Amino acid sequence: MTTKRDFYEILGVSRNASKEEIKKAYRQMALKYHPDKNPGDKGAEEKFKEAAEAYEVLSDDNKRARYDQFGHAGVGSSAAGGGGFSHDWTIEDIFAQFGDIFGGHFGSFGGFGGFSNGRSSRNVNHGKDLRVKVKLTLNEIANGVEKKIKVNKYVSCKSCGGTGAAGGSSYSTCPTCRGTGYVRRVTNTLLGQMQTTSPCPTCNGEGKVITNKCTACNGEGVVREDEIITVKIPAGVAEGMQLNLQGKGNAARRGGVPGDLLVVIEEEKHPNLVRDGNDLVYNLNVSIPDAILGASAEIPTVDGKVKIKIEPGTQPGKILRLRGKGLPEVNGYQHGDLLVVINVYIPKNLTREERAIFEKLAKSHSFTPNPYESSSFFERMRGMFE
Ligand SMILES: [Zn+2]
Ligand SMILES: [Zn+2]
Repeated sequence: MTTKRDFYEILGVSRNASKEEIKKAYRQMALKYHPDKNPGDKGAEEKFKEAAEAYEVLSDDNKRARYDQFGHAGVGSSAAGGGGFSHDWTIEDIFAQFGDIFGGHFGSFGGFGGFSNGRSSRNVNHGKDLRVKVKLTLNEIANGVEKKIKVNKYVSCKSCGGTGAAGGSSYSTCPTCRGTGYVRRVTNTLLGQMQTTSPCPTCNGEGKVITNKCTACNGEGVVREDEIITVKIPAGVAEGMQLNLQGKGNAARRGGVPGDLLVVIEEEKHPNLVRDGNDLVYNLNVSIPDAILGASAEIPTVDGKVKIKIEPGTQPGKILRLRGKGLPEVNGYQHGDLLVVINVYIPKNLTREERAIFEKLAKSHSFTPNPYESSSFFERMRGMFE
């Protein structure tokens, strides 16, 4: 359970700050963390919401007094379980509630243009972000790959060019809200009379209505369709990483700002290689004679096989490092290594003949272990603890 931050602390004001100071502080926060200024930044969005919640309480004399006396419990926000918000506000709600104090400053951020009043960003539709998963092999991750992904999403309606209006028809001011996009309501609550503002139900907050709707999209300006999207995936990505394709998500109603397409990377297991960061690990089984006499072996890598030499007298647990044969760093110049871990294969079933050979070897001097000689594995362990 997370604890809620102090409202004064969130806005960066003292406990005896004036109403004007609080308003000013909130305005600064809201401008800084405004979603149009920080597209796709969840942290900024949370801060934006957090500031709005703090302002909602501290800007209201009644609520502020209760908060000063009883803390979060006094304003009912503890009911949400300590974390989260007392009400699950969307960005739109915040604009509806406090948009007035932003004045005309928001129009300049998104560069959406086309609206003459200062409330422009409130009236802009935003398409939803979409999330798709892409499964990649180690080879694809090693070299980077271009993938074509089929996405079912809202696309701009071709019949009306995304406007939602049938040919030749125009928009007229919404009669319900007289073009403001919002309707005000006065409700009686425990804390006294409260005025709430919500998006106009007639025009969905757009302030205007279409006189003649496009029939292909029923006036929405968007239709659902499959779209093939080409994604360039850089080398070195890893499971869970997310690529953000700006504007490739759902189209917004009536020519608004489209959402983003978030591509989540999934890694397919390689049959022989295990990934450890940018390094790859391979387990090489070597026969007893090969470990003793030396041999050569073929090792699979992300781009073909390579031959390596097993030195005579190679100990089990030894790690051979093939420099640069691992994965590239994403957005970097470094390459990981390929680590070959030597495992000496001990057979369980022997023929009578083989058994006789090993019985003979057991008595020989070279096959008697030296108690003072450590295995490479033990030496590594010792290194870890020293
Ligand atoms: Zn249409
Ligand atoms: Zn309206």
